[in-house]
Amino acid sequence: MPNLPTELADPDYRFFELAGDHYACGYAVGAVTDLRQLPAPENPPRALRFARACAAVVRDIYPPLLDEYRGYADAQGRPWEDVLPHFSLHHPSGEAGGCSSLAWRSADGHVMVARNYDFLSSQRSRHLLYAGPAGALATLGTNASLIGGRYDGVNQAGLFAALHLVQAEMPARLSPGLPFHLVPRILLETCTTVRQAVALLLDLPVLHAFNYLLADAGGFAVVEAHPLAKRVREGDGWLAVTNHFQHPDMQRLHGRRTHAHSRRRAEKLRELALRPGEPAWSWAQQVLRDHDTPLCHHDRIMATLWSLTVDITARRIAYCQGAPCQGNFVELAWPANEPPATRVQRGWPAA
Ligand SMILES: [Zn+2]
Repeated sequence: MPNLPTELADPDYRFFELAGDHYACGYAVGAVTDLRQLPAPENPPRALRFARACAAVVRDIYPPLLDEYRGYADAQGRPWEDVLPHFSLHHPSGEAGGCSSLAWRSADGHVMVARNYDFLSSQRSRHLLYAGPAGALATLGTNASLIGGRYDGVNQAGLFAALHLVQAEMPARLSPGLPFHLVPRILLETCTTVRQAVALLLDLPVLHAFNYLLADAGGFAVVEAHPLAKRVREGDGWLAVTNHFQHPDMQRLHGRRTHAHSRRRAEKLRELALRPGEPAWSWAQQVLRDHDTPLCHHDRIMATLWSLTVDITARRIAYCQGAPCQGNFVELAWPANEPPATRVQRGWPAA
């Protein structure tokens, strides 16, 4: 075990079970969290107009999320203007990110996913949520305090979705669109298959550069998404996704960035995928603990904030609170129906 720098002293790991409709879900989260403050925009009136335009896009695409924002705002006694920035995030996705995901088909034909979510260690909020509002597919997944967001997770139909930040050149003028954190949420609440999710995502206007990994029992694909272009990659037996675009058509959007670390992690995942271990479930958890590349992060700025493994075919999902080399993967019930009551628990479910 390397000498690991101290992680944040008081990370906010919580498990939310959210009963009721979208408004109730937003209210329950708003009542017990703080509104995440975003970087101040250069031109506040223009930023507010842009945020309104993005909210209008969300209303067109998936109106229940506006109810969720409204519930969140009401729980904190805030005017609508306070939560509007969470529709646009005020900023291009310029912060560092280092997620590593591998999807593959195991020897027994199961579709598996292993993933580390890496971000700034200073990001305190690390929430796991189970919700199933009427009219939406029930989901289990994570969020980091952006209203209504999901960073990775599964739904009751057996679809998996996860995001990976990409640092890329952004157009000088962005058209209104969806912020990155609402994309997996919308896909998971409305789509039952990879095919459906890919088709929908290709039609969504996005504000940020991200890779979205999608998997179901039939296979997997990644949509490489940028405000100016989107491409789909499908793996042949496996698919590695990190923090750069791999599709040739998307390379110009990187500008001069080399994405060396992201490429190294993708290469490591490729090597692993070519010689997968068995049983796949425990091998997945083991590879996520790699410190050589590293896939499991412990530098002073970045950390692996959580980790997960999924056997989509068997409908098994396990989350690890914190870095996988230090915590346990805990298997959770696959989302089915609405939780019977709203409940918020400190810490994620422990073994
Ligand atoms: Zn580690």
